[in-house]
Amino acid sequence: MLEVKKFTFNPFSENTFIISNKSSKAVIIDPGCYHRAEQKELDDYIFNNQLDVQCVLHTHSHLDHMFGTAHLLSKYNVKLWIHRDDKITYDSFEKVCELYGIPIHKSPIPNPVFLNLHNPFQIDDITFQILFVPGHSPGHVAFYNKENNFVINGDCLFENSIGRTDLPGGNHSLLIQSIKNNLFQLPDETIVYTGHGNETTIGREKKENPFLV
Ligand SMILES: [Zn+2]
Ligand SMILES: [Zn+2]
Repeated sequence: MLEVKKFTFNPFSENTFIISNKSSKAVIIDPGCYHRAEQKELDDYIFNNQLDVQCVLHTHSHLDHMFGTAHLLSKYNVKLWIHRDDKITYDSFEKVCELYGIPIHKSPIPNPVFLNLHNPFQIDDITFQILFVPGHSPGHVAFYNKENNFVINGDCLFENSIGRTDLPGGNHSLLIQSIKNNLFQLPDETIVYTGHGNETTIGREKKENPFLV
């Protein structure tokens, strides 16, 4: 049984996740912790639960999902994994922060590792099938854990909504296609952890999401 811990961070109210297993191995997804107090909240959770952080993953590399990445990579001495098609988003982090007038505490590392879509991503008994779901950003992925019946889906599908597609590399029809051809192929009872707002399920969004019915 995996533990899914959710934090909500930064002015964009972004959801950050720590997935951990019984032997205290942990994976951090989309660390949006920006302020020092937010970074401390995450670090305290890791310390208090004696977690052994294995890596950081990005569903995509919009600024609100990666404010805390550089801090975590150096503190826990781990690697960052992203989809190669989102490197362009990742590389624009500093420019976009400047555009929003957000000071940067620590510059991103230059070379994240690229996810391989063909094999499950596995750390100990934490296994993710990687779903390629572009549209909100060009290299957006979702992390599906079949055994525990959940998907960490970033800014693709939301409760009663979908990701915005007006940012660079966004594509509305591609996003709809990604959701219908990938996420909606998962079992109805799959819990969807979203990048902003509440959890939902695949079945509920199939039935009720006004953008998709
Ligand atoms: Zn986003
Ligand atoms: Zn976001």
